[in-house]
Amino acid sequence: MKPSLLDYTQKELAELIQPKFRVKQIFGWLYHNYAQSFEDMKNIPKALKEELTEKYIVNPMKIIKKELSTDGTIKYLFELQDAKTVEAVWLKMKDEKRDAQGELTQEARYTICVSTQVGCKVGCAFCLTAKGGFTRDLTAGEIVAQVVNLKRDNNHKHNRMINIVYMGMGEPLDNLDNLAKAIEIFKEQEGLCISAKRQTVSTSGLSNKIDQLGQMDLGVHIAISLHAVDDELRSELIPMNKAHNINSIIEAVKRFPIDTRKRVMFEYLVIKDKNDDLGSAKKLVKLLHGIKAKVNLIYFNPYPGTPYDRPQLKDMVDFQEYLVSHGLLCTIRDSKGIDISAACGQLKEKENKK
Ligand code: SAH
Ligand code: SF4
Repeated sequence: MKPSLLDYTQKELAELIQPKFRVKQIFGWLYHNYAQSFEDMKNIPKALKEELTEKYIVNPMKIIKKELSTDGTIKYLFELQDAKTVEAVWLKMKDEKRDAQGELTQEARYTICVSTQVGCKVGCAFCLTAKGGFTRDLTAGEIVAQVVNLKRDNNHKHNRMINIVYMGMGEPLDNLDNLAKAIEIFKEQEGLCISAKRQTVSTSGLSNKIDQLGQMDLGVHIAISLHAVDDELRSELIPMNKAHNINSIIEAVKRFPIDTRKRVMFEYLVIKDKNDDLGSAKKLVKLLHGIKAKVNLIYFNPYPGTPYDRPQLKDMVDFQEYLVSHGLLCTIRDSKGIDISAACGQLKEKENKK
């Protein structure tokens, strides 16, 4: 597998490519024009392009499947150089706004959900990605390329704002070096210029790696996939909870450097008759005491063969009301793309069955 130019920061490319002023041009082709290949790079001399073609590729993946939802969500399946596949999702967060004359007053807002691994080692009992086991880490370039390809496919200009959530397939903190590199590449001023504040890393709670990420001081947000308030249930749902229990996660979150105006997000996957009772809500309030937290309740999204069920709307709302009435911020994640195959791993799974 040849490395991709998307694997490198601008500074690193300046060490690899001569003369240096070409790097700025190439960066423009990669991140402002979303070039797919060296042929696309019109003002780069042929000799340099030939030299680069020997060692590198531009786009390390191709879109092999796309599913559109009625709510504006688009789910993508990518094929990598070694024929492995991963998903990324284009989520519409806010509709565009127009005034009475029909003039655009605010553009629609989007978030891209990216994958960090092919498969996952964590093995959560409720997660379809886990079923296929772990194949490999994604390179930084493969993480970056998901965003470049989705922006390109949606004609989303390079300078339009976008948020990134590392919530696709895989455990981001299990691939910390490539994750950190991708975060830096997204931040590049002459690239996509996506500030760390617009990037959220979701983790199943590897507490030692939460500390490592914090020490890197990249400025990203974290979201903790908590899902349970006692270690017994959490270990059933997320086996590695035995090594990184709830308490160790809470302590790591308290040490994590956060923007004082922001909150740490706790994701709570609600499963019918497992963790949807008010007793759990009460424990959750206690657990998060003293943390500037925001809870995001997620409906468990069933798939064939799972022993778990989707919770009732009423139980979700009661749970939310309990948290809110006890001073916690709490949202219910609207099931974006429910008509296409919402949760991570589900599009890939459908493809494998064909
Ligand atoms: N590995 C990281 C990030 C990717 S998983 C993590 O676990 O946080 C992204 C999210 O998808 C997690 O919050 C997870 O709880 C959720 N998820 C996995 N399977 C799901 C399912 N069947 N229904 C709803 N959400 C699911
Ligand atoms: Fe891995 Fe996250 Fe799925 Fe758990 S929920 S198996 S950590 S991708």
